[in-house]
Amino acid sequence: MQRSQDKPIVAGNWKMNKNARESIEFFQGFLREITEETEQSQFILFPQNINLLAAKQVLGSTKVGWGAQNCYPKESGAFTGETSPQALSEVGAQYCLIGHSERRTIFQESDEFIADKLVTLQSWGVTPVLCIGETKEQRDQGKTEEVLKNQLEIGLSKNRIECPLMIAYEPVWAIGTGDVATPEQAGLAHKFIRSELATKYTEDYANQTVIMYGGSVKPDSSKALFAQEHVDGFLVGGASLEVSSFIAIYKNS
Ligand code: PEP
Repeated sequence: MQRSQDKPIVAGNWKMNKNARESIEFFQGFLREITEETEQSQFILFPQNINLLAAKQVLGSTKVGWGAQNCYPKESGAFTGETSPQALSEVGAQYCLIGHSERRTIFQESDEFIADKLVTLQSWGVTPVLCIGETKEQRDQGKTEEVLKNQLEIGLSKNRIECPLMIAYEPVWAIGTGDVATPEQAGLAHKFIRSELATKYTEDYANQTVIMYGGSVKPDSSKALFAQEHVDGFLVGGASLEVSSFIAIYKNS
């Protein structure tokens, strides 16, 4: 997926919310509002894995993107409770979040483990959405760029540049706190990420890679954030749970 010049890509991370009925109601309600295919293709939804089949049923014939919140970096095997990129690919998931701060902190996932997920997803044709971001303490210590650089360096160490990739800059202190980054903070971090991609790969590669901002985005904050040159869209948690606020983030931008 590539940035359309004038509208953001808006992705909804539902985390461990919504059962099958609620997911289907959301998908149907969303499709009643967003009927244009060009607009549909600006959105991505990440339900719980158990509801991916419901996503396929309702969204499978539309341009709305959908995918998983997590996977395990192996094709198959004795990994009880995990989901393989192969199974995600087969069900039709186009995207998978990796490196979300909740997985880094609650499940102690390392950058190396995330790098393995990234390349396994790519080998199955599923686009990884690599989430990176600094904690409040790291920002206060002036270490934001150092943290982002390190997460990119290791997280992308196995990246296959011929495969699609998306990045989400999600400052940990902004996730689920209501404490959204200022447009300037987001703009600077996104510019840094873009320049790291250009240095590591090429300018073209950097420009083609969608970089979303995530962290307490609401309909009233999206416009100023999207006005920043390097903010291509949003990864939204709380405000993605209601059709109206999810769509308003897009429409207001
Ligand atoms: C997220 O979990 O990715 C997120 C950005 O959550 P919220 O919008 O609720 O801060």
